[in-house]
Amino acid sequence: MIYLDHNATTPVLPEVLEAMMPYLTTEWGNPSSAYKFGAKLKSVIETAREQVAELIGAHSTDIIFTSCATESNNAAIAALKANPDKRHIVTSSVEHSSVLNYCRALEKEGYRVTCLPVDRDGLLKLSDLETAITDQTAVVSLMWANNETGVLFPVERIAEICRSRGALYHCDAVQAAGKVEIDVRKMAVDYLSLTGHKFHAPKGIGVLYVRRKAPFLPFIYGGHQERHRRGGTESVPLIVGLGKAAELARKHLPDYEKKVRPLRDKLEEGILSSIPDTELNGHKSQRLANTANITFHGIESEALLMLLDKEGICASSGSACLADSDEPSHVIKAMKPASAASRQMIRFSLGEQNSQTDVGCTLGAVAHATTSLRD
Ligand code: PLP
Repeated sequence: MIYLDHNATTPVLPEVLEAMMPYLTTEWGNPSSAYKFGAKLKSVIETAREQVAELIGAHSTDIIFTSCATESNNAAIAALKANPDKRHIVTSSVEHSSVLNYCRALEKEGYRVTCLPVDRDGLLKLSDLETAITDQTAVVSLMWANNETGVLFPVERIAEICRSRGALYHCDAVQAAGKVEIDVRKMAVDYLSLTGHKFHAPKGIGVLYVRRKAPFLPFIYGGHQERHRRGGTESVPLIVGLGKAAELARKHLPDYEKKVRPLRDKLEEGILSSIPDTELNGHKSQRLANTANITFHGIESEALLMLLDKEGICASSGSACLADSDEPSHVIKAMKPASAASRQMIRFSLGEQNSQTDVGCTLGAVAHATTSLRD
């Protein structure tokens, strides 16, 4: 198998599994218990919280463990309910469905949502953001890196604009973690979401950073876990795995680009230069080092993906969360509304485990598949 879908999910690293094992076998207590067998797990959770906090330059007390980034994104946006006088949300047309669909649900509750457009390269116009924010705007939710194209939004500038205009800023940083440096001390972000399975922890564990003093209402009501901010018995094995993965992501970050970018560039340039009627989606440079989203004009994404799958190559036609729907990519549609590109594109997203051989084999398979589909 050649796995080129790291924006969908990543494999659990052996070190992560090893760190989790005691908590799946012998140390299975409940951290809220009064006796030592359970209660000693509290400090294990706090160590993981510190590991996650270090990855993003946060205080550990500002980290809330959730079940996934979908929950983190919903919970951050729902914090607007803490200020019932402000009923306006600003987001963009290329956000993940966990942001867009929650905003649509809030519209039904009477909130007003402004969805900022992007240009052909997937970039925002910051003047559009400045115009959209009013004194009614409770929260702005704009992602760090796009999951389909890898396009990077200028999050530090966005945060400054939101702060200066009195709106809270939530950043979905799911695709940024482990790929670019995140430091919440350097930007005026109020809420930031992560998910473990995009940086080699298991699925089912997410993070919401909430800046101290930013308003927050629990999204999941229950017990007193997570300082009363998120009820539910903590999943100690998943939290430990997440902490270890965060520590490793921080350690590997200086080499990430050096490893991944040359492979991505070779794949991207190989396809664009040798296969006719292909086009890159997303800004050439303001983009994650691992992602190449390419339109193959005249070829249905699903047909090409099937042929690649037969060769053992895993890629995708957009967000894994929407893969079973028949809808074309809303991200590419927002960038290129007048073209059929949104049904004719493939996202290749590489990881540190990929090799030159993977890229060579993929280039051969893509050339073969596109020729036979066009014939
Ligand atoms: N946000 C972005 C940008 C994503 O890519 C994803 C997952 O694909 C999510 C949010 C949702 O993450 P989770 O699967 O943890 O709910």
